[in-house]
Amino acid sequence: MLLTSSLHVDEARKAIAKLVDELIKTSASNDGVSEIETVSLDQAINRILATDLLSPIDVPAADNSAMDGFAFNGKCLETKDSGIALAGKPYEGSIGPGECLKIMTGALMPAGCDTVIPQELVSTQDQHSITFQQNQLKPGNNRRLRGEDLQKGKPAIAAGRLLRPSDIGLAASLGIATLPVKRKLRVVILSSGDELCALGQPLVSGSIYDSNRYSLTGLLNRLNMEIVDCGIVRDDPSSLKAAFIDASTKADVLISSGGVSVGEADFTKQIMQELGDVGFWKIAMRPGRPMAFGTLKAVPGKSCSTLFFGLPGNPVAVMVTFYQFVRAALLQLNGASQTEPTLMQAISVEPIRKKAGRTEFQRAILGRNAEGRPTVKITGSQGAGILRSMSEANCFVILGHDQENIAAGDWVDIALFDGLL
Ligand code: AMP
Ligand code: MG
Repeated sequence: MLLTSSLHVDEARKAIAKLVDELIKTSASNDGVSEIETVSLDQAINRILATDLLSPIDVPAADNSAMDGFAFNGKCLETKDSGIALAGKPYEGSIGPGECLKIMTGALMPAGCDTVIPQELVSTQDQHSITFQQNQLKPGNNRRLRGEDLQKGKPAIAAGRLLRPSDIGLAASLGIATLPVKRKLRVVILSSGDELCALGQPLVSGSIYDSNRYSLTGLLNRLNMEIVDCGIVRDDPSSLKAAFIDASTKADVLISSGGVSVGEADFTKQIMQELGDVGFWKIAMRPGRPMAFGTLKAVPGKSCSTLFFGLPGNPVAVMVTFYQFVRAALLQLNGASQTEPTLMQAISVEPIRKKAGRTEFQRAILGRNAEGRPTVKITGSQGAGILRSMSEANCFVILGHDQENIAAGDWVDIALFDGLL
């Protein structure tokens, strides 16, 4: 396993992606992560599509009108009105040269017609005739062709898509009621630390509430994963060892927080030598410098080893390392083709201090300036333990490894906390 003194964020991501790839290859199909299940559309949101979804029909199924207006044969632009075609009520007759038919959006093109003049471009219209300017349209205008959106037998959605509302609507529009998806990943979470107090218990002096399991639960719920909560584990080798063995039997992935920083990591390291292959990384990033990553050996009854992330204890560092490393790894392990979040850019309204040599994730609020340009403002103090800075923010400002101080007015990379669709 890789061991270095200070690892570039990109190197860490590459090493994680490589290991996840190996895990996928060794995963047997019976209990492995490649297992597929069929779910109804109402259960499909945020699941990963397991096989290409082939369209069983042409969409549209027939040529139809893109506008409310009059349909006619584009070869003869002088027309007279012959009736009406409505969506769902096709006109049975045929339209001859010089004739037209009133038509509504979505209605099938009547035989003999290939062009629609939108009704707002028709200047006079009486019971039997219409007039319009010929230079306003060309033959074939405002007609949607059969199979224009999707052709029968061709992929409508590619395997690996993290299904969004639009994908589910698209499947429904093809008459497909169920989708093959990868089974949900099972993820064990646990918090380690003698100072941690479970919710509902009185806080004794020197203790703090365990918040990490709750932010991790929120993050994992967004990815629609199955969560197994193994609670708080005390900082002693035998409890930790028992908890890790238990977690390996229950899950595809174990995410712990705490106990990987200098001073605490030594006994975690010892346990990991027995249970698996885990590297203890110092990553050139802020927040979230220490992190353990690797695999726990396969246990009896389980075909592949368990992916392990030992995140730092600081509540903001947990969320940043999850965002930066864990999220993509979980999506990759679950078969998603797109694992990286979309980055945007915005103008920093204030100077930001930054040293070259590490990647920084600052919490910020995205807004707009008077010219309508996107702006970002950092949310107050950026200490790794200050969860409020995270709660008030709606995006990260991501300052790259080599970047130095930012001046007010500079463009910076940002990643939004929320996806739009
Ligand atoms: P550690 O990485 O265990 O040294 O923890 C770093 C800091 O994060 C310490 O101040 C811990 O008290 C705090 N911390 C660790 N685990 C948690 C947790 N589950 N919830 C909230 N704070 C935590
Ligand atoms: Mg600790």
